[in-house]
Amino acid sequence: MSKGRIYVAGAGIIGMAVAANLLQRGFDVTIVDREGPAAGASRGNAGAIAWTDVAPLASPGLWKQAMRWIADPLGPLTVRPAYALKILPWMLRFMAASNSRQMRRSTKALADLNGAALPAWERLWRVSGTHNQVRRDGCLEVFDTEASLTKAQAGWQEQRAFGIEIEQLDAGAIRDLEPDLSDRVIGGGFVPGWMQVDDPMLLCLSLADWLRSQGVEFAVAEIGRLKPTDRGCVLLFKSGEQIAAERLVIACGAWSKSLAGQLGDSIPLDTERGYNITIPSPGVTVKRMIMLPGHGFVVSPLSTGLRVGGAVEFGGLKLSPNWKRVDAMVTKARLFYPGLKTDGGERWMGYRPSIPDSLPVISPASKHEGVFYAFGHAHHGLTEAAVTGELIADMIEGKTSVIDVKPFAADRF
Ligand SMILES: Cc1cc2nc3c(=O)[nH]c(=O)nc-3n(C[C@H](O)[C@H](O)[C@H](O)COP(=O)(O)OP(=O)(O)OC[C@H]3O[C@@H](n4cnc5c(N)ncnc54)[C@H](O)[C@@H]3O)c2cc1C
Repeated sequence: MSKGRIYVAGAGIIGMAVAANLLQRGFDVTIVDREGPAAGASRGNAGAIAWTDVAPLASPGLWKQAMRWIADPLGPLTVRPAYALKILPWMLRFMAASNSRQMRRSTKALADLNGAALPAWERLWRVSGTHNQVRRDGCLEVFDTEASLTKAQAGWQEQRAFGIEIEQLDAGAIRDLEPDLSDRVIGGGFVPGWMQVDDPMLLCLSLADWLRSQGVEFAVAEIGRLKPTDRGCVLLFKSGEQIAAERLVIACGAWSKSLAGQLGDSIPLDTERGYNITIPSPGVTVKRMIMLPGHGFVVSPLSTGLRVGGAVEFGGLKLSPNWKRVDAMVTKARLFYPGLKTDGGERWMGYRPSIPDSLPVISPASKHEGVFYAFGHAHHGLTEAAVTGELIADMIEGKTSVIDVKPFAADRF
């Protein structure tokens, strides 16, 4: 017998994973999205199941590097002048979260979340029949300066303290693994546990097909407003229609802030915009994901082409993309892959939903019963989708979760 209907707002990877878990717990589920599945950040990301990452972005060391990067308008980190004042409060919070104490707290919370992320995905891949869309190729972090390599080694020590395997490699060993990398690379680290999906959009669409086959309903409609009721809320759509939802999960990625705000939760959510290009015939062979932490982008071999991208741009949800950023990344990528061709490449920009303390919000709404939040996963939404789905399902059922969920609470700000 059904445990009742739950509405999920947002058909990105988070909304889909939440729906999958609720379905398995015996709920009827309707997913509402203004465009349909995989319309947002979940469409064009790099495809990494980066569960081995435990370091929060907000950290004491980041500032020196950030200042250097920010000086270059096409560099790895930019603030669009038209958005500079609007992002200021977020930046101040980010700065406040960059002290050693908060960083230790965020690292522990991320290690817990990401430690549970892969087992949760393995369960979801198996049950949804999408397990053949994932590869365990590991990932190579490569460096072209001694300073950046030395800095990375400190981070690897931290990861190893959480049981994550990282093998330091010299330039020769790296080129044995990836012969097309240029001799600019002086060394790096191999992370064998890292996993990669064939293509994040295809995974989303396959999950959507499976959810439909299991009876989950999909509605294409834009939520304009939420009106709280004694239990749950009324979804008022821009079309003029409305639905009373006793239980609602908000998983609208970077667009979740105003919806949570209407329920009285002021969440400091903003977006880190990221760019990439996907090249069907790149003219170089890349066997596994290559990270270039010193340059702020990655090279990711997908079934649909080679995706070169990353970078962070603070520019909100409305400013048009600055495609010169993609050209700048390609120029950098050619230093590492001189033979890289871009003919037929498709450019994309996506909106990472980001919270200043580098932790998502996975939580009941603080002021309204029946409403739950699952957003703010920033650089790791694909990685953390399945575990987020399990945690939200536990919260809805009133069960204790395998990890401490307090660090992800909506009332922590
Ligand atoms: C360049 C780039 C590379 C990345 N690489 C990785 C990676 O390798 N690994 C990783 O783990 N993460 C990665 N990420 C992060 C990851 O893509 C995001 O964290 C994740 O996709 C967020 O998923 P989501 O479901 O919360 O949001 P989204 O995918 O953005 O989905 C939100 C959905 O909400 C819908 N919506 C919004 N407002 C409304 C409304 N009012 N009514 C109805 N529907 C609405 C939208 O249409 C959209 O479909 C990357 C991100 C970027 C930008």
